Amino acid sequence: MGAKIISGKELSASLRAQIAEETAKLPVRPGLGVILVGDNPASVSYVTAKEKACRETGMYSREIRLPAETTKEELLGIIRELNGDEAIHGILVQLPLPKHIPEKEVIEAISPDKDVDGFTAINVGRMLIGEKCFLPCTPHGILKLIEFAGMDLSGKHAVVIGRSNIVGKPVAVLLARKETNATVTLCHTGTNDLKSYTRQADVVVVAAGRPDTLTGDMIKEGAVVIDVGVNRIPDETRPSGFRLVGDADFESCAQKASAITPVPGGVGPMTITMLLWNTLESAKRHAAR
Ligand code: NAP
Repeated sequence: MGAKIISGKELSASLRAQIAEETAKLPVRPGLGVILVGDNPASVSYVTAKEKACRETGMYSREIRLPAETTKEELLGIIRELNGDEAIHGILVQLPLPKHIPEKEVIEAISPDKDVDGFTAINVGRMLIGEKCFLPCTPHGILKLIEFAGMDLSGKHAVVIGRSNIVGKPVAVLLARKETNATVTLCHTGTNDLKSYTRQADVVVVAAGRPDTLTGDMIKEGAVVIDVGVNRIPDETRPSGFRLVGDADFESCAQKASAITPVPGGVGPMTITMLLWNTLESAKRHAAR
């Protein structure tokens, strides 16, 4: 293996220490309201990790766990309460929601000033036109990881695999901003001959939700690989019966890449860290008012 490992764990630890330091100095305690509807095991573990990270950085976290049969009106009522609550600077609704609750309507009910996930149409629009906003956490974490790897993307070719609203599309927009200055190709299932694009890339961000979407033969020597995927695959040697892998085949990509993020320990910890970052930012704005 020749590639340097870009550790999201290491970068997260240093950013979280910085966040804790700033939190302690603020006249208001940053507060995050976390809403979980139902008991989807993956969602429960994400929410638990977010709440723990909040406490560890000295932030206040209000956990609102609701039964799966909660109605849309009840959920909207809780969001309205949090929107008006002075102790809460960020609101997070863990997705996915049960099928009977329309996600879009719920997200849009969050005040853009407290939308620390950066999912509301207002925040997405502001990001697109380069105005001050809460950047979506996973894409923002990816930018930080690339910076941490010491890579200057100006004039470089970035290929993004995946066009979801929460990862692929915002990553492509952020990489193409003047301050990052990459030339971006956005690939998806309609892309013919994916390999012909990824082989030209200086950096590949893969967010497809499918193991082995990117393999060593698909990248050029010295490329940087950012693996966003989180996939559970059966593994009888583990007590849990599964292990987590990314969307890139780590072994073959690490042979050719100059740097690569691992799964777990790469993009994942950065997502939570950037959520704390946005919550701190929101509390700072509140304190300045
Ligand atoms: P998503 O909504 O399912 O989108 C996947 C995208 O990948 C789609 O645009 C799809 O194309 C494209 N795609 C799938 N297979 C492909 C292939 N073989 N070739 C080219 N494009 C392909 O997923 P997501 O929400 O963006 O998440 C992607 C992955 O990242 C998942 O594993 C998720 O668990 C993980 N994730 C991790 C974090 C973290 O913090 N680490 C955060 C968010 C997501 P079409 O549009 O054509 O269908």
